[in-house]
Amino acid sequence: MASLSFDASQQLIGGRWQAADGAQTLPLLNPSDGTLLAQIARGGAADVDAAVLAAQAALAGDWGRCSAAERGRVLQRMGVLVLEQADDLARLEALDVGKPLKQGRADALALARYLEFYGGAADKVHGQTIPFANGYTALTLREPHGVTGHIVPWNYPMQIIGRSVGAALAMGNACVLKPAEEACLTALAFGRIAQAAGLPPGALNIVPGLGEEAGAALSQHPGVAHLSFTGSVAVGRLVQAAAARNTVPVTLELGGKSPQIVFADADLDAALPFLVNAGIQNGGQTCSAASRILVERPLFDTVVARMAERYRALRIGPALDDPDVGPLISPRQREIVQGYLALARDTGLHLAAQAALPATLPAGGCYVAPTLLAPAAPEHRLAQEEVFGPVQVVIPFDGEAEALRIANGTPYGLVAGVWTRDGGRQFRMARQLRCGQVFVNNYGAGGGIELPFGGVKHSGHGREKGFEALYGFSALKTIAIKHD
Ligand code: NAD
Repeated sequence: MASLSFDASQQLIGGRWQAADGAQTLPLLNPSDGTLLAQIARGGAADVDAAVLAAQAALAGDWGRCSAAERGRVLQRMGVLVLEQADDLARLEALDVGKPLKQGRADALALARYLEFYGGAADKVHGQTIPFANGYTALTLREPHGVTGHIVPWNYPMQIIGRSVGAALAMGNACVLKPAEEACLTALAFGRIAQAAGLPPGALNIVPGLGEEAGAALSQHPGVAHLSFTGSVAVGRLVQAAAARNTVPVTLELGGKSPQIVFADADLDAALPFLVNAGIQNGGQTCSAASRILVERPLFDTVVARMAERYRALRIGPALDDPDVGPLISPRQREIVQGYLALARDTGLHLAAQAALPATLPAGGCYVAPTLLAPAAPEHRLAQEEVFGPVQVVIPFDGEAEALRIANGTPYGLVAGVWTRDGGRQFRMARQLRCGQVFVNNYGAGGGIELPFGGVKHSGHGREKGFEALYGFSALKTIAIKHD
């Protein structure tokens, strides 16, 4: 087992680290080599119940009494500690997620930035006064929902915790966090950082465990007043149905099949790093991965050739070696991706490039060769379904109308990128793309903490990041006072 500086088999409830009910545990594996990293708590309904009670007690106690400015200060202290521990957090993420060190460090810096941003914003969310009938003063207040439930996936634990728990705490909610069973070490480290920064007990509770146990119990709990779910479409629907039974709001951040659209007038040198990186970052296990590259026909062969060159130069290896591409999260995820590669082969999709897997890779690791497929028909399953691995398809198009038809022609709508020098086209495309975020002449904007994020269609609903998240994690109350 890897040496960790804390006991990973405990959960955080009401400020105390403790074993799960019945002392149940789950094995946590290192995807770079398949070895056992730790035993983690296997939380269940009783643990979730205790966590919700602890959160309610925090709201009735010290945490509920904190002013907005005090909440902001605690969050900012947490941000400072995250910055100080960024290298340790990156190492944990490398061990747990298989994320290359540099990418893990970028996630830690993003987490720190969320805490700075939401810490700074905590006392700047204002209500309004409303000109109403004579003899009244009418105003609005933004109040916390109460206990918020946060169910997060394994691919970007730090960033997703930052954007959802950070915003929820800023607005004065008390949180119950259910990290993914495949990767929860940085979530546990985050709990320790929160305590060290002085977050009152019960304001943040962490219950690791299986989705169908701890996750389902949290999404169904009648004491939870708001749910934030990030993960697959299938589970998102279950969580939304559970939220509906308790009539509570839910934010769903689901999957994507995001396009980057390259017009013939694009600055190709500027675009190229974004075209490939947004497909292979975190092994392609990114909700906003640019898994479809749409290229206007005159530039098609050039783009494919230059992307292929980059693919052939990619370094693949264990996460602690800081390669370009690490392993996938699990043998199951590798099987899914290999299934898609077999489908590509069986249906005659042309292999434009495939990075070589070094012979020295550890046998127990979950490695898949990054693969570029071109040309692909827009209707092909690999151009329609989320693969969640380092696989990109390149699709040719002629003109704006066809680009839009292809870009909008999947069940998803999360992010899109447009590369063109034509100012009018930049606006036309941005306005007509059906998705939650559009980037013009860039992609991803380095995490974009300040930029509201979320999807349409099967990519989900509700917005996190930026100020928008603060509105989502609060309930608007209207007060009308009749005074004469
Ligand atoms: P998943 O839906 O299987 O798991 C996500 C979380 O839900 C985990 O914590 C899991 O334990 C929990 N869960 C599983 N079953 C549950 C249930 N019945 N009730 C309640 N909770 C349950 O997703 P995954 O495979 O871990 O993550 C990959 C998916 O997440 C991809 O589709 C990806 O696009 C999406 N994702 C989206 C975003 C975004 O911001 N839009 C970000 C990251 C990942």
